[in-house]
Amino acid sequence: MRVTTAFNRLLALPGARVIDVSFCAEGVIVEVALRRRHPVCSGCGQVFTGMHDRHARRWRHLDLSGQRCFIEYRLRRVVCPDCGVRVEAVPWARAGARHTRDFENLTAFLAQQMAKTPIAALLRVGWETVGRIVERVVADRLDESRLCGLVQIGVDEIAYRKGQRYLTTVCDHRTGAIVWMRPGRNAATLQAFFTELGERRQSIRAVSIDMSGGYAKAVGEGLPDAEVCIDPFHVCQLASRAVDDVRREAKQVIHRGERLVDRRRRQPPARPSRAGARLSRPPPVSWSPRAESSCPCHSGTAHTSLAGDWRPLIPGPEYIRRLELLRGSRHAHDI
Ligand SMILES: [Zn+2]
Repeated sequence: MRVTTAFNRLLALPGARVIDVSFCAEGVIVEVALRRRHPVCSGCGQVFTGMHDRHARRWRHLDLSGQRCFIEYRLRRVVCPDCGVRVEAVPWARAGARHTRDFENLTAFLAQQMAKTPIAALLRVGWETVGRIVERVVADRLDESRLCGLVQIGVDEIAYRKGQRYLTTVCDHRTGAIVWMRPGRNAATLQAFFTELGERRQSIRAVSIDMSGGYAKAVGEGLPDAEVCIDPFHVCQLASRAVDDVRREAKQVIHRGERLVDRRRRQPPARPSRAGARLSRPPPVSWSPRAESSCPCHSGTAHTSLAGDWRPLIPGPEYIRRLELLRGSRHAHDI
C-alpha cells in the first residue's frame, strides 16, 4: 500500500486527498489537494473560477503516535465582490483557523472537562489558543433555536476564580441544557437575557431561582405573569444548615456538661477551712444607742436592722427583747 493511500484512509479528511507525506523535526507533514476544482470564498461561500494568488498554509491536526501532524495545502485567494480579497474555504478547517476541525473539536471537548492550563500542556498549544479555539467552536456549533419555545427555565449562578467571579446561567428544565450564560449575578445580568429573548419570553410560564433578590427583581420586571419558584436545592441547603447549627449547639452543651461532671469527679471532697468556718459563723449581736440612732426612720422606737437569716449561737435576754420589738415594728422590710 502506498503511503498516500494509507494516510488517506488514516486521516479521512473531507473533500481532500493526500498527495505527499514527509517527516521532519516539527512532525509529520501531510500535503493534500482539494477534490473540487474551483475556489469558494470563505466569507460568503460564492464559487469563483479564477484566483488572485496562492500560498502554502499548514493546519495543526491531531497527533500521530505522539508526533505533531500538520495538514499542508497551497491555499488560493479570491477577489470576492462582496468580501474583497479572501482566502478560499477548506472543508477540514474553520475560516481563519490554523487548526483542523477535529483538533478544535477535541480542544472544545476538553475545555468542558478541565481547565485551560492542562489542556494547553496536553495538546502542546498556547493558553490563549485554547480560548480562541473554544470561541470559534461555540460560535460555529451554538444552536440558535435553543432560546425558542422555553416554558420552564431555571436561573442560578456559578462561581469561578475561587469564588471571586460569577456567571449567571439559565437552563431549560425541559431538556436540562444550559441555554444562556453571562458574567455577573445581579438583576441587570438576568435582565439582559430577557432583552435578548424579546417576544420569545412570552412562552415562559415558570422560573426557578435561588433566594437572590436581584434575580427576583429581574423576573418580576421581565416576566410579571410567570410563576416564580424557589430552587429546591437552596431550600434543602438552608434546612441542612439549620439542622447542622442545632446539632452543633447541642453537642457543645453536652460537651460542657461532661467536662463539668469529670471535673467534679476528679476533685476530692471539700473540707471546710478555718477561715470558712469563721465566715459561716454569724456575727454577734451588738446593741448600742449609736446603732439605734443610726436607723433612718428616727421614729424613737427601739429597733434595729437584722440582715440575713441568722441568729446568735446562744440567744440571750437582750436578743429576745429586740426580737419582740422587731416583731411589732413597722419596718419589717428592714429585717
Ligand atoms: Zn465573499
